[in-house]
Amino acid sequence: MNEYRIGQGYDTHRLAEGRKLILGGVEIPYGRGLLGHSDADALLHAVTDALLGALSLGDIGEHFPDTDPAYRGADSKKLLALAYGLVRERGWRLVNLDATVFAEAPKLGPYKKEMRAVLAALLGTEEERISVKAKTGEGVDAVGRGEAISAAATVLLEGKTPRRTV
Ligand code: MG
Repeated sequence: MNEYRIGQGYDTHRLAEGRKLILGGVEIPYGRGLLGHSDADALLHAVTDALLGALSLGDIGEHFPDTDPAYRGADSKKLLALAYGLVRERGWRLVNLDATVFAEAPKLGPYKKEMRAVLAALLGTEEERISVKAKTGEGVDAVGRGEAISAAATVLLEGKTPRRTV
């Protein structure tokens, strides 16, 4: 019999001049990019936190501290792959991922399919199990004013039922 675990993640990064905009592992042409110690890919960070959260493995900041020079400019695809490695080695795998990116601009519609393909490859699954949605901030708050981009992710994991002690 299988057991299921749900995990959620959320992340926000400030938009700044002189940075590449990378979301879901895809480089998107835009005048500004997300500011952070790594490549600041808010979508991949939200997914990474959701994977860790589903198994109560802490958060992305504990595993990949932004004080560690090893992660300066880090490719967030590698961080996600490391986190999913922890999931796999414990005998769990992804059932599905549902994510939303909140960005006033640029329009993300043309990039959603590529983001899904990147995530499906990183998670060793079919694109059909990966959902990436995009919303604007409707002109409200930091996202709506175009100062930041946020992302939220929910994952469902499946594994063998462990012997319960409580
Ligand atoms: Mg982040």
